[in-house]
Amino acid sequence: MTSPLDRLFLLQEVLLEVDVKTQRRGKTPDHLVHIEAAYHDARRLRDAAGAVLSQAEERKKILDGEIQDFDEQLKKYQQQLQSVKTSREYSALLNEIDGIKREVRTREDELLALDEAVAGSSTELDRRDEAFPAEEAGYEEQMKEWRAEQTALDAEIARANKRAESLRSELEPRLLKTFELIRHRRAGVAVARVEMVGPQTAACSACHVRLRPQLLSDLRLSKETVFCESCKRILYWIP
Ligand SMILES: [Zn+2]
Repeated sequence: MTSPLDRLFLLQEVLLEVDVKTQRRGKTPDHLVHIEAAYHDARRLRDAAGAVLSQAEERKKILDGEIQDFDEQLKKYQQQLQSVKTSREYSALLNEIDGIKREVRTREDELLALDEAVAGSSTELDRRDEAFPAEEAGYEEQMKEWRAEQTALDAEIARANKRAESLRSELEPRLLKTFELIRHRRAGVAVARVEMVGPQTAACSACHVRLRPQLLSDLRLSKETVFCESCKRILYWIP
C-alpha cells in the first residue's frame, strides 16, 4: 500500500525526470554546436542576400514610378512653354523644368547604383543557393544521431508526463496544491526525505537542518503533513 506521501515523492521524481530530459532535449550537444552555428550562418547569409535583392528591386520600382511622374510633369511644362506671354513667365517655367530634370537625374544615378548592387547580390544569391542544398544535407547528416536522441527523449518525456498525470489524479487536491507551490519556490524539490544522522537524530535531506525531537515524533505519529522548520519543504519519513 502506498501512502499519499509515497505517491507525492514519486510524482516529484517523475517531474524531476521530465525537467532533466526537457533540458537535455533543448540543448545541442557540445560537439554539434559549431556545426549548428555554421549552418545557421549559411542560412542567414543566404536570406540576407535575398533581402538585399528584394529591397533593391522595391526601391527601383519606386524610383521608376517617380521618374515617370516627373516626365509627365515635364511634358506639361514644355507644352505650356508654347503659350506663355511674358519672358518672366517663360524663365520661371524654364526654372521649373530645370528643377525637374535635376530630380530625374538624381534618381537615374541611384538607379544605376542599384543595378550594380542587384547584379552583385544576385551573383551572391546564386552562389549561396547553389551551395546551400549540400550544406543542408551535410548538416542534417551530422545531426541525425542527435535528432534520433531527441525523438527518443520526446517519447520518454511524454511517458513521464502521463505518469505524472495519473499520480496527480490519485492525490488530494489540497496536498497537490501545497506541493506545487513549494516545488516552484524550491527548484523542483518540495518533498524532502528525512534522514537519520544519529541514533535519535534526524535531519531534512534537502537543507540538512536537524529536526527537533518533537517534530520527529509528529512525523512518526501524526497523519498531518509535517514541514521542515528550516526550508519549509514537506518532510517524507520512511519508517
Ligand atoms: Zn529542510
